[in-house]
Amino acid sequence: MGVSPSHWHRRYRWAVIVLAALLSVAKPSLAAQTEIAYCIAFRGVTPAAQSSFAAMVARVYDDPRGWSLDGKVKFVRVAAGGDFRIWLASADAMSSFSTQCSTEWSCRVGHDVIINDARWTSGSPYWHGDLVSYRTMVINHETGHFLGLDHAPCSHAGAPAPVMMQQSKGTSPCHPNAWPLASERALAARNLGL
Ligand SMILES: [Zn+2]
Repeated sequence: MGVSPSHWHRRYRWAVIVLAALLSVAKPSLAAQTEIAYCIAFRGVTPAAQSSFAAMVARVYDDPRGWSLDGKVKFVRVAAGGDFRIWLASADAMSSFSTQCSTEWSCRVGHDVIINDARWTSGSPYWHGDLVSYRTMVINHETGHFLGLDHAPCSHAGAPAPVMMQQSKGTSPCHPNAWPLASERALAARNLGL
């Protein structure tokens, strides 16, 4: 006996239901976007420095090579509050955030990511790259701390430095690198529950 047309219809219907179920299971991981709200704040810096800083921060957070993890994480700037604050602060103001922060380097204290204006303006004597790359690296590095990443060593001579290496103090024997390595992106993704 052949299968009646109504049987085919029913089987087809089941196939559609199974397919829909598979798609709905797959959907959450495809749409696993996380939003992180940040605000920008300043202490002891000029208005001109403030606007260029805000633009650069937005560019770095939007870049698929960074902690946006190819767009899976959206950094959204808010006027106040948010999940964390990123500061541009004068060297003199660094210790007002914590006694752990030095006048020389940038710093992260809890939900405050503080970029030292002295480093922002002139980079670091130990950094062998251009200033835009330095600024990118320092934003990624200090924000990486906020995302729960600790310092990472250079893996081997000639490799790109982990962004969580203290590259402001030198990158040797690694090359300067402004963006998180695949292993660092994986750590951030895990910390964000992605
Ligand atoms: Zn650090």
